[in-house]
Amino acid sequence: MIRQDIIDLFRIRPGKPFRLKDHDPGWAQTEELKDSGKDVVKQRSLEVLNQSVLDLAEAQELLYANDRYSVLIIFQAMDAAGKDGTIKHVMSGVNPQGCQVYSFKKPSEEELDHNFLWRCMKSVPERGRLGIFNRSYYEEVLVVKVHSEILELQRLPPGERDQSFWEARYEDINAFEKHLVRNGTIVIKFFLNVSKDEQKRRFLDRLTKQNKHWKFSAADMRERKFWDDYQATYEAAIAATSTEWAPWYVIPADQKWVTRAVVADIIATTIQSLQLRYPEVTQAQLAEFAKLQEQLENE
Ligand code: ATP
Ligand code: MG
Repeated sequence: MIRQDIIDLFRIRPGKPFRLKDHDPGWAQTEELKDSGKDVVKQRSLEVLNQSVLDLAEAQELLYANDRYSVLIIFQAMDAAGKDGTIKHVMSGVNPQGCQVYSFKKPSEEELDHNFLWRCMKSVPERGRLGIFNRSYYEEVLVVKVHSEILELQRLPPGERDQSFWEARYEDINAFEKHLVRNGTIVIKFFLNVSKDEQKRRFLDRLTKQNKHWKFSAADMRERKFWDDYQATYEAAIAATSTEWAPWYVIPADQKWVTRAVVADIIATTIQSLQLRYPEVTQAQLAEFAKLQEQLENE
């Protein structure tokens, strides 16, 4: 397991100043890791990922057996930061029946006819399950804030679209997440922090490698032009919505092995902290089991 102090490095504390530029997207997160060297850290990360995938499979089974809590895991990031690959690797050991993944794209006409949380509310995980949001209602304070013309499509009541408008959305999000947590849904939020240079390298890969062509999107190139706006917008949104009940983790995303190990470990550790046990059977049930066993054996 990754040590708690490493996890703490990535957790954004409510009320503390938060600057994205203070968060290194690379692998050398501490002096100790830097001294160990990249190869050692990579090897260690792969071991952590393997162990966390096993831990997560067990944690998910307990979650399912208890049928009391659910876990909502949100992924937000710039394009090519590795959301899809992280979900694929981190969830590789989990029983598909206990896990639901939803990807939120541009809203449909029906979705635009409802409030901005509606489509996500409908998809929060059932008790006993893990639910993954690949993008989420956070797009409503990210892409919609960067391209404010999108707001016009939402046909909201008239009013200023100023700072207080966005603050009201942060407030709604915090209240919604509080509601989820109070009712047994654990909320974990990841921002995969990729650097602009690494995004360029990954886009170039998509343009030049035949097996990656399918991943290339001209729209992603257009969004890259708004890089600084997005960074500022992410910074504001994360600072306003990292709460005690639903923390944000800013995860280094320039090396995929770092991202996957840290994300898997945080999810496994969070579920383990619930200290779930398999439901116990009563003495009466045990007696009944013994009778049924005898019946079967004497068939
Ligand atoms: P991938 O490219 O790996 O398939 P993706 O999440 O980038 O995954 P796309 O279909 O490329 O999927 O992009 C989805 C787009 O939808 C993103 O540009 C995102 O900003 C946009 N989007 C998501 N939610 C909203 C929203 N509520 N309002 C407007 N745009 C949104
Ligand atoms: Mg995309």
